[in-house]
Amino acid sequence: YVRWPLTATQRRKLSWVQLAGHKGNFKAADEGTILKKFSENEMECFVKLRDDALLPFVPGYHGVVEKDGESFLHMTDLLANFNHPNVMDCKMGVRTYLEEELVRARERPKPREDLYKKMVEVDSNGPTPQEHSQRGVTKPRYMQWRETLSSTHTLGFRIEGTKKHDGTCRTNFKKTRSKQDVIQVFKDFVGGDANLIKSYLNKLKEIRQALNASHFFRQHEVIGSSLLFIHDHTGKAQVWIIDFGKTTALPEGQTLKHDVPWQEGNREDGYLWGLENLFCTLESASNE
Ligand code: ATP
Ligand code: MG
Ligand code: MG
Repeated sequence: YVRWPLTATQRRKLSWVQLAGHKGNFKAADEGTILKKFSENEMECFVKLRDDALLPFVPGYHGVVEKDGESFLHMTDLLANFNHPNVMDCKMGVRTYLEEELVRARERPKPREDLYKKMVEVDSNGPTPQEHSQRGVTKPRYMQWRETLSSTHTLGFRIEGTKKHDGTCRTNFKKTRSKQDVIQVFKDFVGGDANLIKSYLNKLKEIRQALNASHFFRQHEVIGSSLLFIHDHTGKAQVWIIDFGKTTALPEGQTLKHDVPWQEGNREDGYLWGLENLFCTLESASNE
């Protein structure tokens, strides 16, 4: 229960939105900041990003904090400077699981009933006869199947969710695959405003330049990371790089190109190829 009139902070808390991940992974924190459930891996990424070309495009990182006996990463709330923002989460890359997850699942498969049920919900013919009889699918198998439904394989990115200024949320993009489908989602997201698309295109150009200059990017397999698009009615538009939970350092001296096909063993993630396709898709959306 919140008393009227609302303070600015209360308003923000009410309109804060999480478009992916488990509910409960995030908590509100001091003015303009949020807490994300601690992960060693993500923390190490934030620390390394402190002196990298990508720093201007990632949420500010303010260290590890304990709350109610749990650890969290303290970071800037990217929505804090907006009123009634529109938000979209685009997961980047041609692959959404780590090579090591694939190897582990092969060596000791752990079929999960929850993932089996999720698969059947979308397509009762999704599971193989064996998966049907054991009523379980492994995590990488589930993720690979989802990649083929969405635009992850065909475009190198996929839309995870959107929230519009009027409060309507959509996370049902599991089958949004074709370029035309994605164009429609973007046009709806910006309310048909071609200037907003132009602003987003400029932001993506800046991000591409920063990625090309980034040592961090060259030295990491970037899996499951998203671009977070945010705009409001004033025309202010921003794009941020978020979610380093599965971004993994390569062995010393090794680098990735990020724009060549993935073959198991090469650890390529297709991030730059996806960014190029995202750019072209947005260009098409602004010309239609
Ligand atoms: P998953 O791995 O399933 O994608 P996750 O638990 O790693 O989820 P994130 O992807 O980092 O979580 O974030 C989930 C959602 O929370 C994002 O889609 C976005 O809507 C919101 N979010 C994350 N970080 C921020 C931030 N710094 N400011 C504002 N919103 C954020
Ligand atoms: Mg995420
Ligand atoms: Mg994550």
